[in-house]
Amino acid sequence: MKQIFVPTAESFIHEADAVVIGGGIVGVATAFWLSRAGLETVLVEMRQGLSTLTTPNSIESFRAQFTEPAMAELALPSIEIFENFAEVVEIPDIDISIRHKGYLFVTDDPAMIPDVEAAVKTHHRLGITDSEYLTGDEVSLRFPYISKNAVAATFRQKDGWLSTHEATQGFARGSRARFLVSTKALGITRDSQGVSGVETNRGTIATRVVVNAAGPFAGQVGNLLGLEIPVRPVRRQKAYITPRAEIPPNAPLSIDLARDSYWRPETGGALIGWVDPDEPVSAPSENIPTDRYFAAQNIENLLPLFPFWEGIAETLKASDVIVSAGQYVYTPDDHPLIGPVPEVPGFYLNCGYWAGVMLAPEAGKRIADLVTGKMQPTENSLRPTRFSEGIHLEGSSFLRGHSQ
Ligand SMILES: Cc1cc2nc3c(=O)[nH]c(=O)nc-3n(C[C@H](O)[C@H](O)[C@H](O)COP(=O)(O)OP(=O)(O)OC[C@H]3O[C@@H](n4cnc5c(N)ncnc54)[C@H](O)[C@@H]3O)c2cc1C
Repeated sequence: MKQIFVPTAESFIHEADAVVIGGGIVGVATAFWLSRAGLETVLVEMRQGLSTLTTPNSIESFRAQFTEPAMAELALPSIEIFENFAEVVEIPDIDISIRHKGYLFVTDDPAMIPDVEAAVKTHHRLGITDSEYLTGDEVSLRFPYISKNAVAATFRQKDGWLSTHEATQGFARGSRARFLVSTKALGITRDSQGVSGVETNRGTIATRVVVNAAGPFAGQVGNLLGLEIPVRPVRRQKAYITPRAEIPPNAPLSIDLARDSYWRPETGGALIGWVDPDEPVSAPSENIPTDRYFAAQNIENLLPLFPFWEGIAETLKASDVIVSAGQYVYTPDDHPLIGPVPEVPGFYLNCGYWAGVMLAPEAGKRIADLVTGKMQPTENSLRPTRFSEGIHLEGSSFLRGHSQ
């Protein structure tokens, strides 16, 4: 029996305990946990394969260094799941290429020192006890390629990156869920009890539980039920720079806090990115255009703290740079929306992510716990009803950017 397939009239599945809409890492992790909880689970993905929209366009990194309790609550167990992935998904030979090379948030702006110090104190209070505060001198000692103008940093060696392709495939293969690709949710039906089915381009699946994990399209999927989901997609670009001897191969993911720019080594080259504060909210799209000058601007932002980029910039050819783009999805308090929507019984959200790769494992588990009653909606601080309850979670994590 095929698990991931394009359904035909014969192989289409007409009934399920739960249907997940969206086959990025968030939806697939959700399907994994729902099926592990004993629910017959079907995931529908409109594209030809799993993890083909935002997820593979990320820089595939994870960190525990959050300052918001609700984010740390998801990040810490998610990292643990990644670290023990083969046991969790029960596939002994799976390798998600996890690299604990660290995350370094560094600044040359003395005005930011109190924020950096406070961030580390907050990490420790939230149980992220192995993040370190580094002075400028300590930064120079550990990372000699960083400018002597650095004045403060936070660092956690056990942060790092992984293969989102392998992680997504692992969650799929380790589950008993079925994944219908090239299958688009076009409608969600309801009756007096709540949701009753998902209409797709290939047929209707009767179900009493529907999870909206449609990434940038989560707003559109909410519209299928006449709901306004407060999500705002914003384009974020990254560039891959082909191998260069100047790029320190063992560096951590290094973020210039003052300029919202970052880079990390990748197979001899580097991935670079910039969370442009002026990027406007955009419509959800499968074809996000890239800017011709993005990489040049990004590298310019990296020069003050990472001066080795100067030599690279001088000799860089267009063929040495591959720019790609996806969308961060923001909510009014920059925290994801996880949990049931009381207006439509059986309809759940798992969306609104700007850091969905690193939060997906535990977020998916939380949906399963909420569906099965193991967790009560009020125990879940990320419940979508928080806004109507007047709760606005405070956000202060570095590098999240904002929607305009
Ligand atoms: C440049 C960049 C760098 C990033 N770096 C990181 C990082 O290092 N770490 C991190 O944690 N996060 C990072 N992110 C964010 C991260 O990529 C996203 O938060 C995460 O991938 C969201 O996963 P998802 O499954 O919600 O969305 P997606 O991967 O977009 O999946 C949603 C899926 O839903 C499908 N879909 C939509 N509508 C329908 C429908 N009607 N029917 C069927 N299917 C539908 C889509 O086709 C899509 O495949 C980055 C993002 C960008 C753009």
